[in-house]
Amino acid sequence: MGKKDKGCAIGIDLGTTYSCVAVWNEQHRRVDIIHNEQGNPITPSFVAFTDDQRLIGVAAKNQAATNPENTVFDAKRLIGRKYSDPIIKNDMMLWPFKVIAGVDDKPMIVVKYHGKEKHLFAEEISSMVLSKMREIAEAYLESPVKNAVITVPAYFNDSQRKATIDAGTIAGLSVKRIINEPTAAAIAYGLDKRTNCKKPRNIFIFDLGGGTFDVSLLTIKGKEFKVKATAGNTHLGGEDFDNRMVIYFVEEFKRKSKLDISGNPKALRRLRTACERAKRTLSWTTCTTVEVDSLFQGIDFCSSITRSRFEELNMDMFRECIETVNRCLNDAEIEKSKVHDVVLVGGSSRIPKVQQLLQEFFNGKDLFKSINPDEAVAYGAAVQAALLSGDIKKVPNLVLSDVTPLSLGIVAKGYIMSVVIPRNTTIPVKKTRGYETGVDNQSSVLIQVYEGERAGVRDNNFLGSFRLSGFPCAPRGHPFDVWFAIDENGILTVSAEVKNTGSKNEITITNDKGRLSTQEIKRLIQEAEKFQAEDKQILRKANAMNSLDEYIYKMRKALKNDCINLKLTSAEKEKISSAITKATNLLDGGNSKPKEIEVLEDCVKELESMFKPIVGKIDLFSSFY
Ligand code: ADP
Ligand code: MG
Repeated sequence: MGKKDKGCAIGIDLGTTYSCVAVWNEQHRRVDIIHNEQGNPITPSFVAFTDDQRLIGVAAKNQAATNPENTVFDAKRLIGRKYSDPIIKNDMMLWPFKVIAGVDDKPMIVVKYHGKEKHLFAEEISSMVLSKMREIAEAYLESPVKNAVITVPAYFNDSQRKATIDAGTIAGLSVKRIINEPTAAAIAYGLDKRTNCKKPRNIFIFDLGGGTFDVSLLTIKGKEFKVKATAGNTHLGGEDFDNRMVIYFVEEFKRKSKLDISGNPKALRRLRTACERAKRTLSWTTCTTVEVDSLFQGIDFCSSITRSRFEELNMDMFRECIETVNRCLNDAEIEKSKVHDVVLVGGSSRIPKVQQLLQEFFNGKDLFKSINPDEAVAYGAAVQAALLSGDIKKVPNLVLSDVTPLSLGIVAKGYIMSVVIPRNTTIPVKKTRGYETGVDNQSSVLIQVYEGERAGVRDNNFLGSFRLSGFPCAPRGHPFDVWFAIDENGILTVSAEVKNTGSKNEITITNDKGRLSTQEIKRLIQEAEKFQAEDKQILRKANAMNSLDEYIYKMRKALKNDCINLKLTSAEKEKISSAITKATNLLDGGNSKPKEIEVLEDCVKELESMFKPIVGKIDLFSSFY
């Protein structure tokens, strides 16, 4: 390629373990996967610091065993998260480098560089990897590169996506768009298969990488791609399989030599490197050796592992992958027999057992492996980059969309989740729902935004809140509208407007607490299924309380409003007010006793039978309220 390609937009797959960069080649009308200086299409997402230099990529990974405390990897696990995040706490136990809490609970990576202690944000580490990918592209294109599309796992929340954009900016890149990794893989696949695609095809993307697992169900019709559903786990991949093997051999070493290496980062790092190599080998052979010279206190380690033992060590995680596949299909409401192609993406999708389980799940269907699993994501990102920058001249625009991983809504009736955007809605999306004030002369409303699948908000995840004021002096029931808008990067803005007065307010969900992790999302979805019966009760109770509240409100007005001429005797009035007092006490007293649903419903019935004739009259005069 020559200088004429100046200004090309590149696609970067910023992986947890490996990164890959690609560019659209308009001359040959294809994507070029750009190889690094060692001639490899993928570059380790590693950064290392020494007394005299900073190393990135292969050079950093190669010296990891001798400089474990200052060799940083897995920055993608830290990006956009808080130090106190329990997921990070778990990760930290396996990292040889140090992470401490910084300002605002941001995790800071501690390294020794030029003989001094240096604290770095995860964004800075990622920016160094991105700079490396940019340099690799610039060397190949022989020109400066500015514009890029970067991929992230489907379940990255706003703060993780924003932090990834920041990393790009620090690397001097203009990030044109953040797209989901499985979506990028689908673009790659779609380009290959674009011809003869008149009927819709259901494509299942199975991406098992080094640190993340993403599955997506897409439909492709003509030139149009649609993501029907996504599921996954940002903490499941090749590194977890490596860890299982590391733990297995640490135990074996302990048995054989009576020495525990679990507290020794250098020994662990060397063992992990050997384990990863053995794992890759086991994808082609049924038995391999693991040898580390002078692993600890001068003792050599030499052992072997069979493919079946490796599978045994990881079977729970392999099965979890298949469960996730099943959940994704359920969400997409597509039977597995209706899936036309199953696409393998990510280095760990090469594991024979994973392929076997997946193939069995899809009733023996052939798996689609023609796209290189390491390159598919960067391939798609490069196509998207070229589309956005107009580098692709003849390919018509592809319409692409992702979906929301959890339902989004606000609190209604005190504690009920009122969903505005249901789970698995295609984004970008803008939806509105109408609400009413609950109290007479209410001057403002607190809009509390949640994500989750449960009926009661206390079981869902709080995202943020804002106050909508400017209501006129009016009886309860004054309308206001709430809008939820999610842009193509998955960033959520919630706005609200008072009807008639036009008073507005809004919030962009950038809360520092961050949206939920995949594991939390998974837990919430599972809990929602488990607690379906309980949620029905919560809704039943809310309905009973609402009816009672409505009833009391109407009856109070009726008593006050003599203009309706109810012609009530004072004895009747007395009876009504004491019933109202009883109902009010019931409503105000305690929310949590399960028995109360029946009590509430009985009270509604009691009031109903007692006042039916009067209610009839009230309804006739309802325009008075
Ligand atoms: P990520 O995008 O999460 O960085 P990749 O898709 O590049 O990950 O996959 C990297 C993972 O794939 C590593 O854990 C690596 O050990 C694993 N891997 C690569 N080749 C093989 C193989 N032949 N068998 C098993 N695992 C493999
Ligand atoms: Mg990947």
